[in-house]
Parts: sequence; structure tokens; C-alpha cells
Amino acid sequence: MRGTNTYLGSIGTTIFSVMSALANEHRSINLGQGFPDTEGPADVIQAAADALKDSRNQYPPMPGVPELRQAVAASNRRFYGLDVDWAKEVTVTSGATEAIIASLMAVVDPGDEVVLIEPLYDTYVPAVRLLGAIPRIVCLTPPLWDLPRAELAAAFGPKTKAILFNSPMNPTGKVFTADELGFIAGLVERHDTYAICDEVYEHLIFDGLPHIPLMALPGMRQRTMRIGSAGKTFSLTGWKVGYVTAAAALTPLIQKAHQNLTFTTAPNLQRAVAMGLAKDDAYFASLSDGLQARRNQLADGLASIGFGVLPAQGTYFITTDFTPLGFKGDDVAFCRHITQHAGVTAIPVSAFYDGPDAPRHYARFAFCKREEILAEAIARLKRHFGT
Ligand code: PMP
Ligand code: GLN
Repeated sequence: MRGTNTYLGSIGTTIFSVMSALANEHRSINLGQGFPDTEGPADVIQAAADALKDSRNQYPPMPGVPELRQAVAASNRRFYGLDVDWAKEVTVTSGATEAIIASLMAVVDPGDEVVLIEPLYDTYVPAVRLLGAIPRIVCLTPPLWDLPRAELAAAFGPKTKAILFNSPMNPTGKVFTADELGFIAGLVERHDTYAICDEVYEHLIFDGLPHIPLMALPGMRQRTMRIGSAGKTFSLTGWKVGYVTAAAALTPLIQKAHQNLTFTTAPNLQRAVAMGLAKDDAYFASLSDGLQARRNQLADGLASIGFGVLPAQGTYFITTDFTPLGFKGDDVAFCRHITQHAGVTAIPVSAFYDGPDAPRHYARFAFCKREEILAEAIARLKRHFGT
């Protein structure tokens, strides 16, 4: 038989599926793959159910239903003061995952370089490589994950077409500061490149920190593709409704990528998300307040067991250093061990690295779970480690 795709043949199944399967097998509490264990807002779910029954179940418009594109434009204005033309600058995709690939497709040719920041979300490197582009990876150093500015500047060169990064950042929980974003904007402008901004956790930020889209910085409006996800904003990760805001010159290219990837996204879900984005400020405040309380609960619990707990300013995730527990083995072994023997599952942080320099002593725990589930997970780990 002829050979198949070399790159896909060389990569494994995503760590999220692997660890969820292991969690199911061992009936452990799954703090691995990031999904809430409660339903999203009842009115948004009801709107999707109602929308199934009113005879709009055929192909919706390729760029997304007008209601949702208008709602995305309105929320750009409401939260960030961005003036967005819904008809020319918004595309709805089947999840942020598709939005990331479509945005890369819109600007990248084979042989172009794309700057990425490690640790990175697991679809970034495959997406870049499958387009024949070359990842140029810059590594953040724990525990503070500060931006190594000289290395980042050195990663930009004549072949750089784009930077793709994530803030708030999975798995670190880092929220890029205004100063760091200003530095990135300077590089993007100086090297005449694009920025693909994965902002799926834009509404999951704690301690009163603001979310600053790179797009809102001077000079960035025409160069930035800003990506959001209804899965995260409404705690409905299975819905896979994403959206990209980009300048009118870029949007037709994003839409041509989308038309060749999935073409459209379920219309009832789109209409329900439109309704959700118009929810009042209290909804968005309670989303982040509720998660912040659970971050605190899990962080305190893990610290009391002896984990080194790194700060998490946003997302669903806490990174922990398990060295103080005396475990002999790397992060993959640790996450398997606690799944099998403590009944709690986490994700090895080395899975968020492409290169050989991954740290091997961190585990990521998700705190987007009910209070009693987090309490039980902490109790199980306490029992297991005898602390
Ligand atoms: N980017 C990051 C950083 C994520 O954590 C996720 C998680 N699912 C996604 C993108 C994908 O979002 P979606 O489920 O909307 O495709
Ligand atoms: N974003 C989720 C996480 O980081 C996983 C999404 C997926 O399973 N593809 O846990």
C-alpha cells in the first residue's frame, strides 16, 4: 500500500482523550480534560431546543447566522470597545478549533513560519505543520511564565507570517499583561505579520484582572484574528460553536477556509449562542466569580496535600508541581498513577510541549467541577499521599 500522511502517522491520540478514557476505565474523578460537570445556562439551552422546532434546520448562511454575527460584533463593542462590522468582519465556525485552523489557512503559505508560545494547546503545532508551515517555538519558564522578550524577538524573521498564542493561557492560567501584549504588537507590526489570538477563556479571568485583546492595541486592528468559543463562555463545551473577528480584508479568506473545512455550524446552536452573548453583566460576572471560588478551593486543597501550586489567573486549570510529594517518575507516570491508585485524573503538562525541553514534574488539574466533586478529589489525594 502507498504511504499515508507522514505527519499524522507520527503523532498520537490527543492526551485529553487518552486521560478521559483512563479516567472512565478506573472510575476516577476526571480533573483532566477541561469540561464543566454542570449544564450551561438553562435559557441558552432552551433557546437551542426551541430553535430546533421552528423550521430553520437546513444549511444556515456559510459565514454564520446574522443573529450570532451581530451578537459577536456587539460583544466586541460591549466588552472591549471594538467597533466591528458584523456583516464583513465576523465568521462563525464549528468551535475555536476550526477557527484556529481557518485563521492560519487565511494567511499562511507552505514554507512560512508561525511563532508559537510553549506550553501550547495541542492542536497548534499539527495545524501549522499540516499547512506546510514551520512552527518557531518560544518557551515560557515556570513558575511565573514571563514572556522571554529577547527570544521572542529572535523568533521573528523574514519568513514569519504570523504569531498564534493563547491568553488567558491553557495550561498555565497565565493572563498576558498589557505590557507583554504591547511588546508582541510591536513585533507583529515591525515584521509586518499577523496575529491569531486564541481568546477562548476571555470571560474566565480572576482576581479582577481585565482581558485585553491584542486586537484593541494600536496598529493591531487590521492584523489580528480574534477567536472566541461559546463552549467556554457558556460552559457548553460539546456545542463546538466558535467565532472569529477579523478585518474586512482578512474575513473573506477565513470564510473560504471555513467553506472548505465544515461550511457551516448547527443553526440552532448558533441562534442560542446569539441569545447567550446578549446576557446581562451579572451572567459574565457570576461565571468568573464561581470559577474563581473553585480555583481557590482546589488550589488550597492541593497545597494542603503538599503540591506546589502555581498561580492561575484565568482558564479552567491549575498547574501543580508534584516533586514535594516524593513521587519517583515523570508527569505521565504521575497522572496515570493517581488515576489508578488515588481515583483522581490530571493531565501531564509535558503534553503541551512539542520540543524535547518539556518539564516533567507538573500536572494540570481542572477546577471547572462542582464543589463536592473537588472536595472528594482532594480527600482522595489526601488519603493516597497520607498527608
Ligand atoms: N483553544 C484552547 C486554548 C482551548 O483550551 C480549547 C479547548 N477546548 C480550544 C481552543 C478549543 O475550543 P473549541 O472547543 O471551541 O473548539
Ligand atoms: N480544551 C480542553 C482541555 O484543555 C480539551 C479539549 C479537547 O478535549 N479537545 O482540557
